[in-house]
Amino acid sequence: MDIPRIFTISESAHRIHNPFTPENLATLGAALRLEPGARLLDLGSGSGEMLCTWARDFGINGVGIDMSQLLTGQAKLRAEELGVTDRVGFIHGDAAGYVADEKVDVAACLGATWIGGGVAGTIGLLAQSLRPKGIILIGEPYWQQVPPTEDVARGCFASSISDFLMLPDLLASFNDLGYDVVEMVLANNDGWDRYEAAKWLTMRRWLEANPDDDFAKEVRATLTSEPKRYATYTREYLGWGVFALMAR
Ligand code: SAH
Repeated sequence: MDIPRIFTISESAHRIHNPFTPENLATLGAALRLEPGARLLDLGSGSGEMLCTWARDFGINGVGIDMSQLLTGQAKLRAEELGVTDRVGFIHGDAAGYVADEKVDVAACLGATWIGGGVAGTIGLLAQSLRPKGIILIGEPYWQQVPPTEDVARGCFASSISDFLMLPDLLASFNDLGYDVVEMVLANNDGWDRYEAAKWLTMRRWLEANPDDDFAKEVRATLTSEPKRYATYTREYLGWGVFALMAR
């Protein structure tokens, strides 16, 4: 069980696998006013940066589940590096349908809402692990401007314009699901550049180290096309943010 190889190559040097900077992540943690000892669940936890740094900075405890063996291993190493192995744990597995044994104070899914079949389904899944009055965190793209054509949407790696909403409509959609939006932190283009452009040097270095790998042709093609695609489409059209929700 694992994720497509292009990600574990291009994002192997990332600590945060979304357009958030370390500062955005710290801002979000502080914004949530987490109590020491608060319990978190993170579906699609990637390299574990949220749980590890929040354990260090705010004294939270948590569990992350991720389908990538590589990233789950990196998350465990990060917990050791930050001295928080007694507070956070990481499980390699499919988070679809995952419900925590013990209810948590904060249930999160940042940049992986396909795990619950979309935003609404993921909120429903996270809610099953959440204590009453707990907080759900959803990290999700939105359109900064609506793409003029479906081709432009596909240029942003969306399957169609209808995959995402404009920010006001995304906020309203949480409302329609019966949730108050109680906080949000939005990424900016500097964060997008850190997320996307950092892949390019990683791919280039991987190509130099693995010239004869079966996958080298695909990585080469991706590295050649990505900077222009990113600047033309994603950087112009796509926003990303984390939204903190509480059931009404
Ligand atoms: N939340 C992390 C990672 C976001 S990238 C961060 O913000 O840094 C999306 C992550 O979802 C990847 O780490 C990928 O391995 C993971 N993923 C994809 N499908 C999954 C599934 N079905 N169950 C668990 N994790 C999954």
